[in-house]
Amino acid sequence: MKPLGEFEVWLVTGSQEMYGEATLRKVAENSGLVARQLDESAAIPVRIVHRPVVTSSESIAATCRAANAADACVGVILWMHTFSPARMWIAGLQVLQKPLLHLHTQFNRDLPWGEIDMDFMNLNQAAHGDREFGYIETRLRIARKTVAGHWQDPYVADRVGAWSRAACAWREAHRLKVARFGDTMRHVADTEGDKVEAQIRLGITVNGFGVCDLAAAIADVPGSAIDELCARYESDYDLAAELGPDGPRRAELREAARIEAGLRRFLEAGGFMAFTDTFEDLGALRQLPGIAAQRLMADGYGFGAEGDWKTSALVRLVKVMATGVPGGTSFMEDYTYHLNPDGPSVLGAHMLEVCPTIAAARPRCEIHPLSIGARSDPVRLVFDAEPGPAFVAGMTDLGDRFRMVANVIDVVGAEQPLPRLPVARAVWRPRPDLRTAVESWLIAGGAHHTVLTRAIGLEPLADFAEMAGIELALIDEGTTVAGFRKELRWNAAYHHLTRPL
Ligand code: MN
Repeated sequence: MKPLGEFEVWLVTGSQEMYGEATLRKVAENSGLVARQLDESAAIPVRIVHRPVVTSSESIAATCRAANAADACVGVILWMHTFSPARMWIAGLQVLQKPLLHLHTQFNRDLPWGEIDMDFMNLNQAAHGDREFGYIETRLRIARKTVAGHWQDPYVADRVGAWSRAACAWREAHRLKVARFGDTMRHVADTEGDKVEAQIRLGITVNGFGVCDLAAAIADVPGSAIDELCARYESDYDLAAELGPDGPRRAELREAARIEAGLRRFLEAGGFMAFTDTFEDLGALRQLPGIAAQRLMADGYGFGAEGDWKTSALVRLVKVMATGVPGGTSFMEDYTYHLNPDGPSVLGAHMLEVCPTIAAARPRCEIHPLSIGARSDPVRLVFDAEPGPAFVAGMTDLGDRFRMVANVIDVVGAEQPLPRLPVARAVWRPRPDLRTAVESWLIAGGAHHTVLTRAIGLEPLADFAEMAGIELALIDEGTTVAGFRKELRWNAAYHHLTRPL
């Protein structure tokens, strides 16, 4: 089974009646082979389903409506194998609500120079038909991804694969429910945002709950569930001796387990796949959820600290994009810099809540004081993130729209051990360099909380931004501050002009 094999993408091929039945049979046969090739590619995590060739405005519109209605269908690939007059596509494209990938390929890779005749020309006509189709997509202002190349070229499968990951996240966004326990951390600006606009734009639903509701769920946790979780902590992590079965702080480990079990039950009962909390509003909770937030993230939940629902949703969505890929995805915060000219880097961490899927080695389970908040010491997992290429991305609300800012980074090991830092952490070097990346990030108003992933590159995130119609300001090896500043200004004009009055 493919990692996202419960979802499918339809491959729909356009043609017309003019060529006669024999040609259309060949078109159907060829597109079936293309669909099968893509379906069998390990680079594509969803199933590729071959749909009948469409040759009329009616059959095109019917196919688009069927795609809208098919729950498992996350997107549609369209390819004009032969010439398919584009006015036939207007009605269908106007009703299509699923993400669209325009595949520009040709069945025959090589021209048969010695044998080529007009039959071959008519059958291999995407160079013509896809231009006509691209025109109508552009004329209708249809958001889509365009991929050109021979269908057997791994490049095509890689591009389709990245887009299908974004399409699965787009589907998830429209089902995603985020539970907020407490509000945003007092006085903080960048974690705020318009939840109604987020639902209109992204589909995500964000609902607040009194922390007393959560406390009640935690109070109801039976002892057996706590025993089970403590056994899990012992088997999965290097447990500090003081938290061991006979350790002096065992009761606090049990309290952490009780919080995890109660939180899990609350989220499962409500169908929430993401949540936020805040250390300023813990009510009857005796510890800030540390290991609970960490382990829930490892199980695929989105998390944002200090009421940050935007980052919580983004963590969940990037985890969906990264399904089945090793590397890990976590909530993250730029915490402290190492500004030594020999290797300036960012030390990223949080008070507690970093996902163990990005750990380089088996985490340690420890308990330490938290210097802010007025609760008992929280239990947490402590580890270093595994080195390798990654990106961080955050989303801010500019008042009239959302902006995502992303930075390609390289997670590196800490130069020296960090024996007195009792939290999970990642040390990274931003591309192209720390100064350029940070100046650009600040100019863009990028958030202080991010999602960090080592599992996927930026392509699915960029495809997702296109589906959502939101800006992605990207900082990578090609970025200069001057160029980036201009891009932001152009983007501002674009988003202003394309927004309906
Ligand atoms: Mn924070």
